[in-house]
Amino acid sequence: MDNRKKIAVIGATGSIGTQTLDIIAGHPDIYRATVISAGSKVDRLIELARRHRPQLAVIADTALYARLREALAPLGIETAAGPEALAAAVTRDDVDTVVTATVGYSGLVPTVSAIRAGKDIALANKETLVVAGEYINRLLEDSASKVYPVDSEHSAIYQCLVGEDPASVRRLIITASGGPFRQWARGRIATAKACDALKHPNWSMGAKITVDSATMMNKAFEIIEARWLFGVDASAIEAVVHPQSIIHSMVEFRDGAIKAQLGCPDMKLPIAYALGEAGRLDGVEAPLTLDRLATLTFEKPDYERFPCLTLARHALDRGGNTACIINAANEIAVAAFLRDRIGFYDIYDLIEKSLGHIPFIAEPSFDDYVTTNSETRAYAESLINVN
Ligand code: NDP
Ligand code: MG
Repeated sequence: MDNRKKIAVIGATGSIGTQTLDIIAGHPDIYRATVISAGSKVDRLIELARRHRPQLAVIADTALYARLREALAPLGIETAAGPEALAAAVTRDDVDTVVTATVGYSGLVPTVSAIRAGKDIALANKETLVVAGEYINRLLEDSASKVYPVDSEHSAIYQCLVGEDPASVRRLIITASGGPFRQWARGRIATAKACDALKHPNWSMGAKITVDSATMMNKAFEIIEARWLFGVDASAIEAVVHPQSIIHSMVEFRDGAIKAQLGCPDMKLPIAYALGEAGRLDGVEAPLTLDRLATLTFEKPDYERFPCLTLARHALDRGGNTACIINAANEIAVAAFLRDRIGFYDIYDLIEKSLGHIPFIAEPSFDDYVTTNSETRAYAESLINVN
């Protein structure tokens, strides 16, 4: 009997997706990739399917379905296309754990679908919890599925909390690299282009999260993500800039003790820890030599140069669909910034304007999130098209 854990990698062609497939391929005795998916990079998906031989490959863009089917049918690999097919794929019997490695709002529906089907989640797609964290937590109460964080900061916090009483937590301290503009003056940041923002000092990641790191929106999202993952009040979650990215985050307890998880900046470790349901594999990342600990520095985040960071508190204080509006406006703004259509600080301005325009809903239903997302995107697009 095949006892290997069966894994669906949603967003297999991306940065987290390919690293996940590498870990699975490196441990063929314990893991098997049964479902893989992509947004529109069909040739890359075909290549991955040839190499990893899943049961099913799904492409979100339906226009590319014929190409996928023609390439994979001779290999006996099932194919499907479209968002509904993706939501169905994660519920299959040949899936135990779903790695949510798509980017942005596109992670929400497959994650909801996987939780409803009782699948475990290795959650990379933080936007799911940003958009609808409260809703997801309600779903989890009635589901057998468990969520294991892939985001390195949340994996670190998770690791620090093993064996601890949740009631003894005083504070979560989330570290931030500070991004490529940490030492730039505000005037210079205002002139930054996509090519500048894409030069992250420590991490190699997809384009959207790399820009989110430059604006520090990524850290705002991580505060929101931590609030829903760990049930800690927003006032007890703090961000600190730690340019070396060696301490991946910390937890302070009621007696004053602080626990931290350290390591090289390498996503393989948090991915492997999540796949293994908080278990450890041999030699996942290069050992951290102690000389790298000689200069660990910490700085207060600068809310004036990085105003997006203020949005976490606003989102959590106001609640409802606020974070959903912020996320949708941010996605449109970042996509426009990546095409050099708007400036760096226009990202924040677009979010502010969207917050002022889109109706607040205090207790959103699932459909309210869907509507808020599409209305905000349309509104933010209209602002860009005017300029
Ligand atoms: P990438 O941009 O590298 O990859 C995104 C993946 O999602 C690709 O497979 C892409 O397909 C797919 N995708 C894009 N749009 C859609 C869609 N509409 N429907 C279905 N699939 C889609 O992103 P990352 O790997 O960098 O990030 C993935 C997630 O993980 C994000 O939420 C990010 O915040 C989070 N994360 C990433 C880290 C990292 O180190 N990269 C660290 C911590 C968290 P295609 O290739 O065809 O476009
Ligand atoms: Mg992170």
